[in-house]
Amino acid sequence: MKTEIIYSPTESALSRAASVLKNGGLVAFPTETVYGLGGHGLCTDSADKIYAAKGRPTDNPLILHLASADEAEKYAYTCPMYYKLAMAFMPGPLTVILPKKEIVPDRVTGGLDTVALRVPAHPVASALLKRCDFPIAAPSANTSGRPSPTEAEHVIEDLDGRIDMIVAGGSCEIGVESTIVSIDGEHLTLLRPGAITPEMLSCFCEELTIDPSLERPLLEGERPLAPGMKYRHYAPKAQVVLLEGSEEDILAFMKEQQEKAEIGLLCSDEQFYALSGKNVISYGKNQQEEAQRLFACLREFDRREHVKTIYAPKPQKDGVGLAVYNRLAKAAGFTVKKVKEQ
Ligand code: AMP
Ligand code: MG
Repeated sequence: MKTEIIYSPTESALSRAASVLKNGGLVAFPTETVYGLGGHGLCTDSADKIYAAKGRPTDNPLILHLASADEAEKYAYTCPMYYKLAMAFMPGPLTVILPKKEIVPDRVTGGLDTVALRVPAHPVASALLKRCDFPIAAPSANTSGRPSPTEAEHVIEDLDGRIDMIVAGGSCEIGVESTIVSIDGEHLTLLRPGAITPEMLSCFCEELTIDPSLERPLLEGERPLAPGMKYRHYAPKAQVVLLEGSEEDILAFMKEQQEKAEIGLLCSDEQFYALSGKNVISYGKNQQEEAQRLFACLREFDRREHVKTIYAPKPQKDGVGLAVYNRLAKAAGFTVKKVKEQ
């Protein structure tokens, strides 16, 4: 299949993208979190095409993207808590899980009786949704198992020739996928950390439950609350290892490793300036930048075939740091090395 790539999302290009979706085709488009791979959200065939193009297991449900928060009524049984969250965070990087209405095909929800809903804030995503009179089902636009795409180039790398259209729209501002939260009356459970942080959600409920599998490996037979979180996502080709220890000990360890061709180091700007090896990549000076660049850095290491092990200091878990930690720890299969200066 020839994939049409649109570099300038004009009115007419977006109308064409909407009609591709309406006719059951697949269109990748930018959102503020990561690029999404969109299909008609009420059409089983489109959902099947999404799973096939990504090589994604069909028990890993898709998020329905909506033009506005009040459209949720059409697809789910909403509640006062939904509207509280919608007022605060929509449009934006928050996905909520609610009981689904019959109109949503089982194929989209992986057979679950709940549905995931999000209203993206990115102007291109928003403009596209406004041209559709249906929700867009859209998982991340990467091949299953590869880091999520935060630039059009990443989508082209993974999906060129497998989907109808790619709308390019620069780098995604947030860089990690949406926060997923399930609502049960007045109670909230965090299923996937993102830019809407536990601290922000805690203002809306007495106690926020955090799925324990976000911070440690799954126990035998354990099922995470978001089915997709059980897969070893976000995995680059090299083995990622998180470093634990004092700042000085970690820097000393990285200095020792930096000239080895088979080692990659993923660190902050500050550490980067203290190091000099060819395989040192900085992913930023603060948590927001780390979130934004994490996946692009992992893809960059993938291009360096000689790199077999990537060492990265374990991220702090406050704020959006929990999302960075969760994605990196999953990429590492939760492998941690304690370092201590000799
Ligand atoms: P992606 O679109 O690639 O970011 O993946 C969507 C994520 O949302 C996966 O981890 C899914 O398991 C999760 N998800 C989608 N629908 C539901 C649902 N009804 N209940 C729980 N998690 C869901
Ligand atoms: Mg994904």
